[in-house]
Order: sequence, then C-alpha cells, then structure tokens
Amino acid sequence: MIPVPSIEFHPDDRYFAFLRTVSTPECGQGRLAGIPVAVKDNISTAGIETTCASRILAGYIPPYDATVVEHLRREGAAIVGKTNMDEFGMGTTTENSAFGPTKNPADTSRVPGGSSGGSAAAIAGGLVPMALGTDTGGSIRCPAAFCGIVGLKPTYGRVSRYGLIAYANSLEQIGPMAGNVTDVNRLMEVIAGYDSRDSTSLNQAYLHTPDPEIRGVKIGVPEEFFGEGVDPRVASVVWDAISMLERKGAEIVTCRMPSMAYALAAYYVTCTCEASSNLARFDGVRYGDPADTRKTWHESFQERRREGFGEEVRRRIMLGTFALSSGYYGKYYAKAQAARHHVRADFARLFRDVDVLAGPTMPTVAFRFGEKSDPLSMYLSDILTVPANLAGVPAISVPCGKVGNLPVGLQITGRWREDERVVDVAYAYEQGRSA
Ligand code: GLN
Repeated sequence: MIPVPSIEFHPDDRYFAFLRTVSTPECGQGRLAGIPVAVKDNISTAGIETTCASRILAGYIPPYDATVVEHLRREGAAIVGKTNMDEFGMGTTTENSAFGPTKNPADTSRVPGGSSGGSAAAIAGGLVPMALGTDTGGSIRCPAAFCGIVGLKPTYGRVSRYGLIAYANSLEQIGPMAGNVTDVNRLMEVIAGYDSRDSTSLNQAYLHTPDPEIRGVKIGVPEEFFGEGVDPRVASVVWDAISMLERKGAEIVTCRMPSMAYALAAYYVTCTCEASSNLARFDGVRYGDPADTRKTWHESFQERRREGFGEEVRRRIMLGTFALSSGYYGKYYAKAQAARHHVRADFARLFRDVDVLAGPTMPTVAFRFGEKSDPLSMYLSDILTVPANLAGVPAISVPCGKVGNLPVGLQITGRWREDERVVDVAYAYEQGRSA
C-alpha cells in the first residue's frame, strides 16, 4: 500500500460556491489521483453533511456514499466540498438556496445559473478543476453556459442515480462539469457505468478518447432552437459557432422540431408531480429536526414542512399534488406523458437524418439577481434544455463566445446512448476555436 497523501484545501470562495468544505480531504491512487473535485449538495457523501440547500435537511449526514462518490474515491479524487444549488434542484439561478445565492464569477452582479450553480462557479472561479452536477431540466447545462464552462447531461441511465436525493427521478442524471471537454470526458469515464443499485441503470461503460474530426458529421439545427425569446445577440454568437463547425467539414441541415411547443409544459407537469411524491418523505421524523411530539402528527408534519421548505419547493409540491389529484390526473399528468412521447418521437425522427442537433443552451446570458421575479418567466428560460431530459438523450454545453463579458453556451444534443458523439462534437468545436 502506498501511503495516501493528504492535501490542505483553502478555498478563496468569494462566490459562495461551496456550502461547506472538507478541511483535510483525503485522496488516493487512480485516474483522478489528487485532483480536487466538488460535489453538488444533493449527492450523498458518507460523513459529510448533505442538505440539498434546504433547511429541512440541515444537519443531515448520510451514512453512505452515492455510487458516483464511491467511484470518485476509488479513483483517488479529493472530495473538497459540497456545492450550493437551488433547493432540491428547483430553479435556474441558484437564488433558491436556503443558505443564500452563489455569484457568477464572470460578473458578480449576476446569477451563475442553476440549479448546479455552485459547481459551475467553483470551476469558473478557479477553486476546483472539476465538479459533479445534476440535470433534471438543464441544471448542468444552464450554469455551464452562464459561467463559461463545459457540462454534460449524460443519457438517462448511463450514470447511477443511487445516492442522489431525488427531485424528479424520471428526468434527472448526475453528470460531469469542468473547464474543458477533456476533463469532462475524464470525469465521465470515472462516474459512468452499470450499477445494480439503480434499476434504471444501463449496462454500458464509458471509455472514450475525444476525437476532433468533424468532417462528414451531420448537424441538424431546428428552427425552434432560435425561436421566440432567444436573444438575437446570443443567436448570432451560436450561429458563428455552428458556421465554424461547417467550415471544419460538418454538414449543417436546418430542420423542424414541432414538439418544442409542448416540451416546457410537459416538463413542468412531470417534474412537479414527481417532486410532490418524492418530497413526501421529509416529514420531520426521519430527517432533519425532530418534530414536536406534543403536537398531533398532522400539526407537526405541516409545521416542519412549512418552515423547512422554501417558497419554490412549496409551490411545486402544491402544483404536483394538484395535478395528480383524482379527477385531474388524466387532464395533466397523462397529457404531459403524451406530450413527452411526442418529444421523443421528434428526436427519433430527426436522428434518422442527422447525427446531432445544435443550438443555444440558454435563450439569454446570465440574469441579474432578482431579474426573474415571477416563476413563469423563470420557467420559460428552460425551454431549450428540457427536451433532452424528456427524451433521456445526452446533451452538452460548451462555451462558444460572449455577449459583452458574459459567456454563451453552444448545446449539442445526441442520440440515445451516444454520449461519446456529443463529447466529440464539443471537442471539435473547442479545438477549432483554440486553433
Ligand atoms: N430549471 C429547471 C427546474 O427548475 C431545471 C432544474 C434541474 O435541472 N434540476 O426544474
């Protein structure tokens, strides 16, 4: 046995990227030997408090590691801390954290995106080279785009969800975030693969060397990806990136994706329904502060949840509970599943003709704090990221330029199980850009 060196970690965390750090992280031998890695706070870490940025889980120390964390430890990574996020992953800005918002290192008057905003800011701010995020409807790709880093939402099932505290299980995946495509690929190699403890796990390992050859790759660009709400300055930066791939030999084909009209509604009905069911377990008995035993179960359940959950989480539990209630189930949940089927069918049809789809990751650059004060305008900004979650296909965001000093992300979406291909196209872009 080689003795494991320990490193001292002193983050200069001006962005409030970390909810807590590990003062003397352990590391070992392996593919990530000694590399500091940050972990989003909804991923279980044995012995390290895990709160999902919610008051209801304050003080909760998981007795076991998520599978992805086991993989990190096995490959020698140093887990240096837990990153800030929107409470339970519900949000697009990291403003919904019960412990305060993270700032965007590119401009500290603006949000880093969300919900994995802490992980993205930790990388963009130079505190760690790589981090884990989770993506239910864009939560890896949105902060990657807003902070100017790379983030991959893997194919549903390629990375184990065992030990991830669920928000909307049919949509979410853990994925790698880093400053460049090579590091995202390296982290993906470590965390992906079959896990018998996740019943949705795919039996497909990820071992890949990124290939920058883009000649002959067919890239579809759906008109809807540049539709209403997309800032023309963002659109122009993204078109320049797509043109660069064309000059390098890719074939660009414009196409249509009509199901985009239903994607956002299908997503928000599905995720709130799943959230209402998943979050029922937080009752003040099994997790968090103990309930007051002098009160009836009903009273203490209500009180713990009213005080423990933030406004957005309560809103979504109520929306989901309403949509699932008898009499409304067919009108909302069943309809959302039908719309979800259309999104899948649209991708399947498009991927018969093209290898990947390209467009902006987010319709705008990072917002100012408080800019999206009503929930609906916040939800609308997820329009370009939710389709990949509804269909379970892989999608990556890679930085492709700026509007002023604010980063813009290029999103590449691929066929089911073809995560390697979206990584390759992002790599081709990154190499072409730095050439
Ligand atoms: N912004 C989306 C939401 O609020 C996505 C969140 C996520 O991917 N966790 O649900």
